[in-house]
Amino acid sequence: MQKAIVFSIEEFSVYDGPGIRTTVFLKGCPMRCNWCHNPEGFEPRVQVVKNLNGCERCGACKAVCPSPGACILCGRCISACPKNLIRFSGKEYTAEGLASKLLKNADYLKKCGGGVTFTGGECLLYADFLIAIIAMLKGEKTHTAIQTCGFADERKFKAVVSAVDYVMFDLKVMDRQEAIRYTGCDNAPILKNFRNLCAGGTPFVVRVPLIPGVTDTKKNLQAIADLVKDSPALGAELLPYNKMAGSKYRLVGKKYSPIFDQTAEPNIDTEIFIKAGIPVKVL
Ligand code: SF4
Ligand code: SF4
Repeated sequence: MQKAIVFSIEEFSVYDGPGIRTTVFLKGCPMRCNWCHNPEGFEPRVQVVKNLNGCERCGACKAVCPSPGACILCGRCISACPKNLIRFSGKEYTAEGLASKLLKNADYLKKCGGGVTFTGGECLLYADFLIAIIAMLKGEKTHTAIQTCGFADERKFKAVVSAVDYVMFDLKVMDRQEAIRYTGCDNAPILKNFRNLCAGGTPFVVRVPLIPGVTDTKKNLQAIADLVKDSPALGAELLPYNKMAGSKYRLVGKKYSPIFDQTAEPNIDTEIFIKAGIPVKVL
């Protein structure tokens, strides 16, 4: 039985593929992009998260904890907090269980030309789960999509991509050393999987986060455009840096430490893509 940890399910999304979609966020990511705004997606496990805004420091959560420093997910702190500031992040689903939940809206999604999108974190951490649930959704004629950073086992990547209807593939930092510096990962496997994506027949778009001085430089965007222009990509989608990116880090007990100028405005350079003949839009 295939299982995955889901940390959010968002309905009526209009930015995660064609039409109106239900977007499923799977928990866990191999990358650590310095600008990530969703740190709840880092760890591939259920966690207890605490919203410290509004905390009265009453100590009730600490007083009931049987295992400080090594959470055993007993949930006592959640019940003890008088302000309801503590919750579990992540819930385990079987492919069957999640498919049945998602299919409740299937008729509506179909009417809107939409479907279901899996993202994360990095959804390809759960490749076997994805293959199973995509088959169930497609069996009910529901359109499926994934959004991926492309940093994944090549065999699993190919298997999921050939199963799904539509792919949103992130291209972030093209220089290898800069990629390691800003994302924590070598980009060679990502570029290999981009070639795998191009060789398959699945429709896809490229997504580029515009991070000031990192991904939005002329050099980086030109390198992306040069790669995409000779590919079967349907287009490029640019995502300007979210200045609220750091707001959720305290929730998971982490500190947001950008190593770029997060106060600068991103360079929203659509011209580079237009000149290369690539349809482009800014999300
Ligand atoms: S879930 Fe239980 S073990 Fe974990 S922090 Fe809360 S009280 Fe402590
Ligand atoms: S129980 Fe709630 S309000 Fe009290 S210290 Fe813990 S998080 Fe803060």
